[in-house]
Amino acid sequence: MAGIYLHIPFCKRACHYCNFHFSTSLANKNDFVSALLKEIKLQQQYLQHEIIETIYFGGGTPSLLTNDELRNFFSSLKNSFNISKDAEITLEANPDDVTVEKLKDWKNAGINRLSIGVQSFFDEDLQWMNRVHNAKQAAESITNAFAEGFNNISIDFIYGTPTLSDINWKKNIDKAIEYGIPHISCYALTVEPKTALAKMIERKKIGDVNQSDQARQFLLLMNWLRTAGYEHYEISNFAKPDYRSKHNSSYWQGKNYLGLGPSAHSYNGDFRQWNVANNVSYIESLKKDELIFEKEELTSTQKLNEYIMTSLRTTEGCDLNYVTNRFGIEQTDKLLESAKAHFKNSILIIDDSKIFLTDEGKLFADGIAADLFFGKV
Ligand code: SF4
Repeated sequence: MAGIYLHIPFCKRACHYCNFHFSTSLANKNDFVSALLKEIKLQQQYLQHEIIETIYFGGGTPSLLTNDELRNFFSSLKNSFNISKDAEITLEANPDDVTVEKLKDWKNAGINRLSIGVQSFFDEDLQWMNRVHNAKQAAESITNAFAEGFNNISIDFIYGTPTLSDINWKKNIDKAIEYGIPHISCYALTVEPKTALAKMIERKKIGDVNQSDQARQFLLLMNWLRTAGYEHYEISNFAKPDYRSKHNSSYWQGKNYLGLGPSAHSYNGDFRQWNVANNVSYIESLKKDELIFEKEELTSTQKLNEYIMTSLRTTEGCDLNYVTNRFGIEQTDKLLESAKAHFKNSILIIDDSKIFLTDEGKLFADGIAADLFFGKV
């Protein structure tokens, strides 16, 4: 069982905080589509005929694809891979693209899950982020998606922006709950190097992000969504029963996946590889039936560290029996030794041979995982 990710590297406008790979020029879009169709064929052996359980169109902005482009990708994927009849097929969409006509096309093409980049229901926040959509479009995208028969809907929020008060944060979450959105992803605003946001902060055009505001809004968020019946199944993700993202869950479970398109990553259990993050290089190489990518073989230590990092972020926790069976009892003993101080500070807990982050620990998940890593110098 495996997944396929397709990276659509175009956006109408650059959001200030974004460090994903994308271009705001659509001039190469047709050539990109031809290149991606070629890559699908070139990579058809990568997953060794495993059954494909999930397909994810991400980006960038996949909702910019035309109906014909989307259908061509589907027929090429079907010709090249063994896709399960029940596959979860997600399309990331920006609210301004979610028209009734497009929703009908997506449904007919086979998309059965939408991930809508709402980010906030307030214009003030959206303008601060330089999002292309407004609050009205955010709300309409959801009502239209439900009306057109999409039940499996996820929306993204960003919190910890200087414009977002706790009162409006609560209003955002309440609105999502009222709509009956079954999956909600919430990300703390991070200032990534070289983004417009980082430059504006450097030049003191805007203030820096306030970490304590972010921490408070995260703690509030966990409380609100749990009370509303959402399962907090991964640090940034909340779902109603049966609505977890199968695609993202399979990453966290270490299943194999193939990433297609510029900057996309792939993993086959032993090797990780990533495509060139440049649209022109990607297109030109595929014109010659070649793919530019880098590749690394994961050592046992890297695999163990990845397991610690991802498992701690999920509700399943870090399973010591699994660590013993796969990596040896010495590693489990060392892991417990490294975790001792965090047990004492109530940042980690252990239950039924599994290590979990406490709510406070979730605020420092990456740092705590790094403390537990093996092979540190
Ligand atoms: S729409 Fe998404 S990928 Fe595009 S710039 Fe904004 S955050 Fe980045």
